[in-house]
Amino acid sequence: GCCGTGPEHIGAIAARVENVRPHQRTPADSLLRLSGTQPLTLRPESNFLMIGERTNVTGSRKFARLIKDEDYEAAIEVARGQVEGGANVIDVNMDEGLLDSEAVMTKYLRLLAGEADIAAVPVMVDSSKWSVLEAGLQALQGKAIVNSISLKDGEAEFLRRAKLCRQYGAAIVVMAFDEQGQAATASDKVRICQRAFRLLTENLGFPPADIIFDPNILTVATGIAEHSNYAVDFIEATRQIKATCPGVHVSGGVSNISFSFRGNNVVREAMHSAFLYHAVQAGLDMGIVNAGQLEVYEDIRPELRELVEDVLLNRRPDATERLVDFAATIKGQGGQAAVADEAWREGTVAERLQHALLKGIVKYIDADTEEARQSYDSCLAIIEGPLMDGMSRVGDLFGAGKMFLPQVVKSARVMKKSVAYLTPFMEAEKAAAGTQGRARAKVLMATVKGDVHDIGKNIVGVVLGCNSFEVVDLGVMVACEKILQTAQAEDVDVIGLSGLITPSLDEMVHVAREMQRLRIDKPLLIGGATTSAKHTAVKIAPCYEHCVAHVLDASRSVGVVEKLISAEKRAEFEQQNSELQQQLVASYNKRQAVTLLPYAEAQQKRFTCDWSQVDIPQPSFTGARTLEDHSLAELRECIDWSPFFRTWELKGKFPRIFEDPQVGPEARRLFDDAQVLLQRIIDEKLLTARGVYGFWPAASTGEDIVVYADGALQEELCRFHCLRQQWQRKGQDTFYSLADFIAPQASGRTDFLGAFAVTAGIGCEELAARFDADHDDYNSILVKALADRLAEAFAEGLHARVRQEWGFGQQLSAEDLIAEKYRGIRPAPGYPAQPDHTEKRTLFQLLQAQQQTGIELTESCAMFPAASVSGLYFAHPQARYFAVDRISQEQVADYAARKQMRLAEAQRWLSPHLGYEPESPVSLPS
Ligand code: SAH
Repeated sequence: GCCGTGPEHIGAIAARVENVRPHQRTPADSLLRLSGTQPLTLRPESNFLMIGERTNVTGSRKFARLIKDEDYEAAIEVARGQVEGGANVIDVNMDEGLLDSEAVMTKYLRLLAGEADIAAVPVMVDSSKWSVLEAGLQALQGKAIVNSISLKDGEAEFLRRAKLCRQYGAAIVVMAFDEQGQAATASDKVRICQRAFRLLTENLGFPPADIIFDPNILTVATGIAEHSNYAVDFIEATRQIKATCPGVHVSGGVSNISFSFRGNNVVREAMHSAFLYHAVQAGLDMGIVNAGQLEVYEDIRPELRELVEDVLLNRRPDATERLVDFAATIKGQGGQAAVADEAWREGTVAERLQHALLKGIVKYIDADTEEARQSYDSCLAIIEGPLMDGMSRVGDLFGAGKMFLPQVVKSARVMKKSVAYLTPFMEAEKAAAGTQGRARAKVLMATVKGDVHDIGKNIVGVVLGCNSFEVVDLGVMVACEKILQTAQAEDVDVIGLSGLITPSLDEMVHVAREMQRLRIDKPLLIGGATTSAKHTAVKIAPCYEHCVAHVLDASRSVGVVEKLISAEKRAEFEQQNSELQQQLVASYNKRQAVTLLPYAEAQQKRFTCDWSQVDIPQPSFTGARTLEDHSLAELRECIDWSPFFRTWELKGKFPRIFEDPQVGPEARRLFDDAQVLLQRIIDEKLLTARGVYGFWPAASTGEDIVVYADGALQEELCRFHCLRQQWQRKGQDTFYSLADFIAPQASGRTDFLGAFAVTAGIGCEELAARFDADHDDYNSILVKALADRLAEAFAEGLHARVRQEWGFGQQLSAEDLIAEKYRGIRPAPGYPAQPDHTEKRTLFQLLQAQQQTGIELTESCAMFPAASVSGLYFAHPQARYFAVDRISQEQVADYAARKQMRLAEAQRWLSPHLGYEPESPVSLPS
């Protein structure tokens, strides 16, 4: 689109508009041009503007409450939510009897102007009071829209206001009102708008493009017969206004149409999208909507769509009654209810098998497989026939972006179950065992020693399996010797290594070196969260003379393996890969050349504050407390779901992801499945959550934080070693270290440090293994992903409790909690503010974390179970997260000395953070 804002569903609406609306050439002066801090031009042939409606005190109880409570921060977030949800313009309305609307309008708009992302979009100032509109116009920059003026108070007043709007440079919404009141029928709407059009253009020379008619969207399905044609009236009026008032635009408040179905969002969203579909075809240019909550027209399930359109288009007298009946059956449902469609059961057995594979339906798979077994010559013929055909279709669709990971994993489950059913018969047939004869290639996969990363690797394994590769998955924490022995014993074609934490990068380098030493010549694939194409190119590839390729995500894995085992494509792929790696090495070297501030200077430019004045709250207890068997139901309330979708490679933020035209429906299904499993986990106590946390008196000395047993700061318990930023980014004048947030000994104050370690992964292995045994990768992966979510939720929930117990708790909404909008931080060792994972050893010692919770640290300092989180708590009001990034040898040497660690070892733990080349250069061992 021209405006470049908003998510895909605007694109989807626009694309449809393009298809249905006759393409008209538009002279440049008839474009509607608006602006916030960024321009927004409406090109009538291709765009539909969404005007965010939630910043309206009359339309949103939540927003009204925030404004009345003067919680402007949260009120601004409402606007941000609309912009993020795709609003191209936001409508702001402060018309409420108890408010000083003029003042509040001014204040709110001024605050919005300070938020770059929100201020970028134009504002529609909305009020029925002229004084409020004018106050709004005076507070705004850019070109706004006034909503609204009308002929209600007569021609003279109408023209006076229009002229003022023009002087402020605003476009205007003109409601279809006149001295007699609101126009309800199409002919009244058109008549009033035509009259207004003549007055504006002839008397004031008002540019038609800046006139936006709102012909009143009125509520249908009210049970009153006179209302049943309201949608048709609006659509028809739109068509005629666009035809007879050249150059003008048409808008409307969309949610009004469905007001009778308050509380039933499924029906309301379907009505909005169906209404828009028809109104946009008639020429509607923009609508006031709840941005981010528009269903895609094609996705409305057919029977609902028909019922809704019967109402909107006034197609039958009992339309309202029928929709009301239907609505009652789906009341309270979130998304689209799956009305089971069993028609596919009528097909042939091969068709049914393929359908089940494509849709991931396991319900009939045993019966259908048995039926196939009776009619096919051999079990192998079933596998090589309908099953493989189905899977290759799944692979194609996934490759083309038409299927998403959760669907693929569900398809794989169907395949596995069918094969499992056939296996004993095949043995009896003395046919080749399993699908081995058919496998295109064998891929070994392992998470390297010291690391527990699993989910991503599992997903890659399933996806490869779907593409008829045989996967040998050695699991997590696998030693190099075992990886290489297995690779040779099984004669695999490709070796894939996975890892999550930075120390694993070094372990991967070690594996590569060993492969070189042992003269293995198989391609090596690298994947996992902290791995990168750059690290692979710079550190791993140079250690091994054969192909080393970084694989970004599961969807790329198939293509890469396919090329590596193809006689024709391999050479080309390797060539491209090595060219890419050369570029990456060059760019790495360039970045490596950044100058670091000398360590001493960075220390001088530390973050400081007036320690005599800083609020240092006292925790309600000191020492550690254990949380045995924490309630999972309680943790569920704090879950941040967005990362859950990322795990499944579905892009989007919760809950807006459900509205995404591409991934929305699949995200919804995945989420529903997750809720079912989560409920089961809670009911049957299948996972156990345990944690330990505490507070201790503490003081900073130089770059260390010393933790004491007593408030007099006498008896030292342990010390945390911190790292300081040295990399000079543009405009950076403060160089942070976590030590800066704890009062120095010399300040004479007693400060406190908090610490925690939590897990929700106890029982996860066993549960996943139960699903694996049932050939159910889908639930196996789901349970691991849920355990991760619960652990993060535990960390978030515990942090809230800690703030209470520390004396600075505040009441926060779930969203604000997830957005971490509170005082204090909980940096985790291994994360950017303290990238050294070994600090976890000190942390665990202090908390007695292993004894208290069962969490173990691997040799790389990964936490096991994987669904665990740990960190330090800082209460300083200005404590913030930062990234240490590159540091100088000087600092590393100082750090190693403080930690009583050999320099080489410190360098190994900090290897991605060294701003210099360490002594032992990376080279091919001979
Ligand atoms: N809500 C997310 C988890 C929060 S991620 C989820 O459910 O997955 C944010 C956490 O990462 C922070 O609380 C902190 O513990 C850690 N973190 C983020 N940035 C950091 C940094 N720069 N240094 C140290 N820790 C950081």
